[in-house]
Amino acid sequence: MPDSDCLFCNIVAGDIPADVIYESDTAIAFRDINPQAPTHVVIIPRQHISTINDIDDEHEPIVGSLFSAAKAIAAQEGIADDGYRVVMNCNKAAGQSVFHVHLHLLGGRIMNWPPG
Ligand code: AMP
Ligand code: ZN
Repeated sequence: MPDSDCLFCNIVAGDIPADVIYESDTAIAFRDINPQAPTHVVIIPRQHISTINDIDDEHEPIVGSLFSAAKAIAAQEGIADDGYRVVMNCNKAAGQSVFHVHLHLLGGRIMNWPPG
């Protein structure tokens, strides 16, 4: 069920604008409003799932589709061969700030390890 208080559900519904660069039946992706790399895209399921802890077996195809989206977008952005990072933060200690699961796709620069 969409959550009317959820920022990303509102983006899916088209009620809050975003720079959407990819859409499928199960996922959409848009440019991060506060980019941390030359390419920084947020990939989200259309369905509201709050955190990784809320992912059930039935969500597996949807979650898998986020990675298919990452692959397609990396190619689209021209960063597939050089390399890129995908990150999903879960809850406060990891820095999750929007509680609708999302994959960050970051590229266009050298990524440091370990992450902060
Ligand atoms: P996280 O901190 O892992 O929950 O990631 C949430 C991400 O959403 C952050 O990188 C924010 O910059 C990004 N963000 C927040 N609001 C918007 C928005 N309206 N449009 C695009 N990205 C957003
Ligand atoms: Zn949501």
